[in-house]
Amino acid sequence: MTHPYDIVVVGAGYAGSVAARELAQRGNKRVLVLERRPHVGGNAYDCLDQAGILIHQYGPHIFHTNNRQVFNWLSQFTAWRDYQHRVIADIPGEDGGRMTFPVPFNLTSLETAFGPEEGKRLGEKLLAAYGPERKVTILELRQNTDPEIAALADYVYEHVFVRYTMKQWGQTPEEIDPNTTARVPVFLSRDDRYFQDSCQGMPLEGYTPMFQRMLDHPNITVELGVEALSRLDVSGAAVTLDGQPFAGPVIYTGQADELFGFQFGPLPYRTLDFRFETLEQDDFQGYGTVNYTVDQDYTRITEFKHMTGQVKPGVTTIVKEYSRAFTGGAGETPYYAIINPENNALYGKYRALADTFPNLYLLGRLAEYKYYNMDAIAARALELADELLQQH
Ligand code: FAD
Ligand code: UDP
Repeated sequence: MTHPYDIVVVGAGYAGSVAARELAQRGNKRVLVLERRPHVGGNAYDCLDQAGILIHQYGPHIFHTNNRQVFNWLSQFTAWRDYQHRVIADIPGEDGGRMTFPVPFNLTSLETAFGPEEGKRLGEKLLAAYGPERKVTILELRQNTDPEIAALADYVYEHVFVRYTMKQWGQTPEEIDPNTTARVPVFLSRDDRYFQDSCQGMPLEGYTPMFQRMLDHPNITVELGVEALSRLDVSGAAVTLDGQPFAGPVIYTGQADELFGFQFGPLPYRTLDFRFETLEQDDFQGYGTVNYTVDQDYTRITEFKHMTGQVKPGVTTIVKEYSRAFTGGAGETPYYAIINPENNALYGKYRALADTFPNLYLLGRLAEYKYYNMDAIAARALELADELLQQH
């Protein structure tokens, strides 16, 4: 039996969908996409909730990139709403009330936390030490030996990083991969945006319609609600699909450990519990996201209307995120790889096994055990499609 497809893609998130479209359109390949969820979009999936509010089911997603090529490529499938993400930290104040300041912690945050005069003086000291518009990671700032800067670094560590990181990872900032806290540096600027990328926004009608258009191509067949591992087998020497050898490229975007039956042991991940609440008010918090960096059990609250720009008076939906260890239990999603040398070494074993199959490609946040943003995985998917089109 010959298969009616040239290429099989597992997963219809960014990795799978971008690669599938590029291969189908530019390479004229017949692509089968298998997705176990009942929808496309992977973790970027959005939909209307019962109150008619556009929500992100798997947590808040803001598109941002400096990669023009990726932005233009995605723009084939969506127009964009200009949206500059701003986040504030909400912490207990000294007077028993609450205090808020911008995150990343910046010159404005400094003045809020230390008062206008002292904050300005400390800001000038930081500017003299590091230079204007510099982004300094908290770990770098903590190495500064000037007593005043060291005290300031301790303040930021205590009030922005240590407890949020403990909630998110169950570990301190020193224990986790330094690239993770470096995503949110101390910023010696008045720019209070969360990202400084040149292209930022939200797909005008949402992420899901963007993915639906991306996958809507005569060379692409999408099967939803399909567990790929019931069709695809890598337990022998060659990949089989539906019991027959499949020699074309197979792009796998799920977990590498699961693909190989967890034979070297499970890869550690963090999962999230999302608690959505719909409230009968126009506006709950005035911002897309508020980080609770000192107290509360959740890490952050996102209010979707601020991000999507949806106008719907009298009702709003928020989501609180609770992080915990992924156990592999039913219904749990592995959201974050826990990157450290030990886990990378375990991942390396699965990778080496995958490499013994000449037509198997691991792609994506799960399959590559990496902390990819949307733009980075889209770029990687385009790169892989390009490599494959040069070979086949
Ligand atoms: P996924 O989106 O996980 O897609 C993989 C797909 O494969 C899933 O749909 C899964 O169901 C399917 N699959 C897996 N195994 C199988 C199987 N065996 N059979 C069939 N189907 C299978 N990035 C940003 O740039 N900006 C943000 O603001 C942002 N916010 C985020 C917030 C949260 C809470 C999280 C967790 C991530 C966020 N990201 C953000 C990152 C973003 O989600 C990822 O970059 C992107 O989703 C990665 O795409 P992917 O295709 O690799 O993986
Ligand atoms: N972080 C923090 N406090 C904050 C924001 C971020 O300690 O207010 C740390 C935390 O360790 C987090 C990491 O920086 O996991 C990266 O934050 P980001 O907002 O990029 O995380 P994501 O949106 O990917 O969950």
